[in-house]
Amino acid sequence: MSTHYKTIIVGGGITGCCAAYYAMQRDGADSVLLLEASDSLGGTAQTESMDGFTCEKGPNGFLDKEPKTLDWVRDLGLEEQLVRANQLAARRFIFRNGGLREIKPPPGFLFSKVLSLQGCIRLAGEPFIPQRVSEEEESIWDFAARRIGVEAADTLVAPMVSGIYGGDAKQLDLASCFPKMAAMEADHGGLVKSMLAKRKEKKSGGGSAMGPGGTLTSFGGGIATLINRAGEALGDCVRCNTPVQRISRQDEVYTVRTANGEDVIADSVIVAAPTHVATGMVAEMDADLADALDSIPYASMVVVCTGYDRSAVGHDLDGFGFLVPRTQEKRILGCIWTSTLFPGRAPDGKVLIRTMIGGAADPEAVGLDDDALLDLLRDELFPILDIQADPVMQRIYRYEKAIPQYTFGHQARLRRIEAAEERNPGLFFAGNAYRGVGLNDCVLSALRAVGRD
Ligand SMILES: Cc1cc2nc3c(=O)[nH]c(=O)nc-3n(C[C@H](O)[C@H](O)[C@H](O)COP(=O)(O)OP(=O)(O)OC[C@H]3O[C@@H](n4cnc5c(N)ncnc54)[C@H](O)[C@@H]3O)c2cc1C
Repeated sequence: MSTHYKTIIVGGGITGCCAAYYAMQRDGADSVLLLEASDSLGGTAQTESMDGFTCEKGPNGFLDKEPKTLDWVRDLGLEEQLVRANQLAARRFIFRNGGLREIKPPPGFLFSKVLSLQGCIRLAGEPFIPQRVSEEEESIWDFAARRIGVEAADTLVAPMVSGIYGGDAKQLDLASCFPKMAAMEADHGGLVKSMLAKRKEKKSGGGSAMGPGGTLTSFGGGIATLINRAGEALGDCVRCNTPVQRISRQDEVYTVRTANGEDVIADSVIVAAPTHVATGMVAEMDADLADALDSIPYASMVVVCTGYDRSAVGHDLDGFGFLVPRTQEKRILGCIWTSTLFPGRAPDGKVLIRTMIGGAADPEAVGLDDDALLDLLRDELFPILDIQADPVMQRIYRYEKAIPQYTFGHQARLRRIEAAEERNPGLFFAGNAYRGVGLNDCVLSALRAVGRD
């Protein structure tokens, strides 16, 4: 007779680990089982160390503005190991017209050559743009072009979207991807007006609704520190190399069928696997749910981590890194100066640089072999950063389905998934495919699934 668990969690990425941890706190270790398809926990969040370099396969870290992520870190006893990014991370650059342009606050912005004078004037006119009154979905690009102008939308906003979502700003729904930005216009009539209102509110003691942007935060040993500690805490609750094939429900109880033919039963199942996998698990149980999950697309991504002798890189790398607008006709999406952000990530006398290639606008990039990717760096990255010699270390991570895309219709899909959760009590969907792709969003979605939101 199979053990009857209170909660089974499917998928051991950051979401599944967080959900399992708090389910275990709530109900005890014997009541919880986490099933992970691969041979290790972490999903996208994995760290690899070699020759003194520390490479992140996926996330570099999280913004320290979400108290619930920090609570989890504290609960795991990892608070002392948190590392905040170097202050130089505040310096961010855009590649434009052959060079890197620093995004400075006004008035410096006017002279930074990020935008043309006309583009700056149009941007400065944002407070005078009337509020949009429409229930219809609007793309991130359309919103930006309408409020701050086409040039700023192409140069500032679209690259940011490819940096976060690997996505195409013209395809993604503003309200799903950046709900706070949509609310700035809906509640206050515009972005500048909203910022002024929030500042006033803060001065009069009304709290900081805008909140700080937060500082990029990780651990000395990389993001894997969080996953490893969660894995230690979960102990025997975790079974790796155990892909789930099917979930069915009978008499208020769920049966979870694994690929090796085993059936495990539980009162509640939290599905924290990507939606393109979850679709097949629930297809027989709930066809409409499977259809809603299946309609969430993903963008691919290639992450190329390269280490160089410091002397081989002409640029000072004093900053976070840079993004490349699509208008500049380059294939690289951007680049993070990892060893500036977290100096311990490269040995003395070396630097670590992380380049992103691919995304929704360049789906073929994930098919490029290692040589082609390094050629691309030589062609595009080396001249920008004045790199004179090949890398002394390279690691390449390819994701066919890296990041879910909140395209038009996303809110309707979420409503269908929520309706399915209601008609299947005890079944929950958590992870980056629903209400935010950042690590903080994943933690919040895990907490929602275990009733701690
Ligand atoms: C290149 C890249 C860079 C990023 N950078 C950042 C960043 O700097 N900051 C930030 O906040 N976010 C970043 N993100 C986003 C963030 O990393 C992800 O959204 C987050 O890690 C997703 O976690 P998850 O647990 O929801 O999903 P995943 O990490 O995808 O985990 C899902 C898990 O489910 C497992 N699984 C799959 N099929 C099955 C099955 N049949 N049965 C059981 N288990 C299964 C998988 O093996 C995996 O372990 C980045 C993402 C990428 C791709």
